Amino acid sequence: MLVDSHCHLDKLDLTPYGGSLDQALKAAEEKGVKCILCVCVDIHHAADVLSIAKRYPFIFASFGIHPSEPMEREWEVNEIVAQAQAKEIVAIGETGLDYYHSNGAEDAQRERFRRHIRAARELNKPLIIHTRQAQEDTLAIMKEERAQEVGGVMHCFTETSEMALRAIDLGFYISFSGIITFKNAQALRDVVVDVPLDRLLIETDAPYLAPMPYRGKPNEPQYVYYVAQEVARLKQCSLESIAEQTTQNFFQLFKGAVLPNFC
Ligand SMILES: [Zn+2]
Ligand SMILES: [Zn+2]
Repeated sequence: MLVDSHCHLDKLDLTPYGGSLDQALKAAEEKGVKCILCVCVDIHHAADVLSIAKRYPFIFASFGIHPSEPMEREWEVNEIVAQAQAKEIVAIGETGLDYYHSNGAEDAQRERFRRHIRAARELNKPLIIHTRQAQEDTLAIMKEERAQEVGGVMHCFTETSEMALRAIDLGFYISFSGIITFKNAQALRDVVVDVPLDRLLIETDAPYLAPMPYRGKPNEPQYVYYVAQEVARLKQCSLESIAEQTTQNFFQLFKGAVLPNFC
């Protein structure tokens, strides 16, 4: 069994499936993908994300506002907490810092990130952290706001081994996407080798970042298979053992994600 630990099901291109999410999920299931975390990035789609998770017992949701998402005003901690109550919401995020897409709003990003961490601690739900070109600030805020009390994942990780290991020291997991299959991503493949298997997750981040051999096409949950395959190659393990370990890691981290008949 495989888990897609991070994707945006409300944004999938369903054209190949005649517009049917059911069919896209069936295709994923046929590739062994039996659990999916559907991640929220903005308040306008939060209800869609939650309603997908309510419809399928093997799909879970998050609530969060992406660091690069424009907002008329920042949300208070209690507003985030109020939005993230449902039992299907097993994590807070995407949150974090993205200085590559900051439009000069780095102060606002930092404040928003702090509020998400405070909300996560209040809710006792783990964090889904997006970080790009903001290594030191991300780690500093995680420490200052005591993110380690709830833990979480550094999703779609593209930074250095040093940062990965420092996040792991704070009790976080590192999640790799299809980027690790890209020809020009050797530095990131070296990071995969350095991350201990008991701290590693896999994701698609669909509909973005389709792995090889689908690079450039819309991504979908079934392609997490190719991420697992590449991790297996890099770790010199079987695909089955990577599937098993990353699945175990997922349920270890996202305690609210409980599958019917899963033990
Ligand atoms: Zn992200
Ligand atoms: Zn994402």
